[in-house]
Amino acid sequence: MAEITNIEWTDATVNFWWGCSPVSLGCDNCYAETWNNFRGNKQWGPGAPRRKIISAAASLRRLQKDADNFERIHGRRRRVFMHSMSDVFDNEVPAEWREEAFAAAEAADRLDIQFVTKRITNLEKLAPAHWLSSALPAERLSFGSWPRHIGVLMSVVTQREAERDIERLLKLKQRHRLPWAGISGEPLLEALRPRRLRVGKKLWLDGLTGHYLQDLGRGYTETIYHADGELPGPLPGLDWVIIGGESSKLARPMHPEWVRTVRDQCRAAGVPFLFKQWGEWKPVSEMDRDELTEVRARPEIQRVEGMPPVASFLTTPNQQMDFFKVGKSKAGRTLDRRIHNEFPRISA
Ligand code: SF4
Repeated sequence: MAEITNIEWTDATVNFWWGCSPVSLGCDNCYAETWNNFRGNKQWGPGAPRRKIISAAASLRRLQKDADNFERIHGRRRRVFMHSMSDVFDNEVPAEWREEAFAAAEAADRLDIQFVTKRITNLEKLAPAHWLSSALPAERLSFGSWPRHIGVLMSVVTQREAERDIERLLKLKQRHRLPWAGISGEPLLEALRPRRLRVGKKLWLDGLTGHYLQDLGRGYTETIYHADGELPGPLPGLDWVIIGGESSKLARPMHPEWVRTVRDQCRAAGVPFLFKQWGEWKPVSEMDRDELTEVRARPEIQRVEGMPPVASFLTTPNQQMDFFKVGKSKAGRTLDRRIHNEFPRISA
């Protein structure tokens, strides 16, 4: 089933199956699980059988057929998010389901397919062998051919996940020549520093440019980093960063300083940045006087007062923020009163 979607960074979603298991703090209030439960289905959790969507391959073929029409209207290729109700690299689905999904994605070469995963370690285990460059020794190395229209977006919601997974993603991008690779911080749960990922004892990685940095020790006020010397060769950097807040009944608020710091790092490194939404909770910093007066006068609207941004590396660590739970559509998606809506440069 292909669905036209309101998700800001894509045009359509296709799922070859429904169902998944939580693997991260970002899964705590999974919208897909909530929606699945609401429909009375039972496809969530380890061992729970996933539900196959029979019509998915036909849907992708239909979108592929409509490519000329879409491009004439929009002046660009259609973006298709696989999978919004599951994880494309879930190892709990039967191999033949995955094979069908990957074959259909490969054939849909008039679309920009967006694989989204919280299981990046499964990419080399589960992607079709002919897409991958062999992990054999150099003399036996044979290059696979990862489809030029399929990019990979990996979920990262905390600095710990960023330090664990971004280097891995960039190595995969280099090894298998992925056309683009990005991260999605949805829901962002703390401030992120993608340009300062601690990946070794004195070794850091700038995830946006792919350059390794050495920690030379502390100067008067801050740590000094150096990019020369005995460092591993650079990796290709990230091509895209998406940030978004949580939208569900139990949603957690997202401090604007967390988003600003990622935006500013992307800007400095020239990496496209897309701010998707605040989610349920809108910070006071995005409200004008009338809106603030209105929400303050409505005691039924939940609020959080004086939330600090906490992370020590933030430039304004003491900036506390009040939030009102006004709902996703009212909370909107402006940051510092403007929309940030950049996409990776794809040359498929
Ligand atoms: S990986 Fe995605 S679909 Fe699966 S439980 Fe987590 S948030 Fe939900």
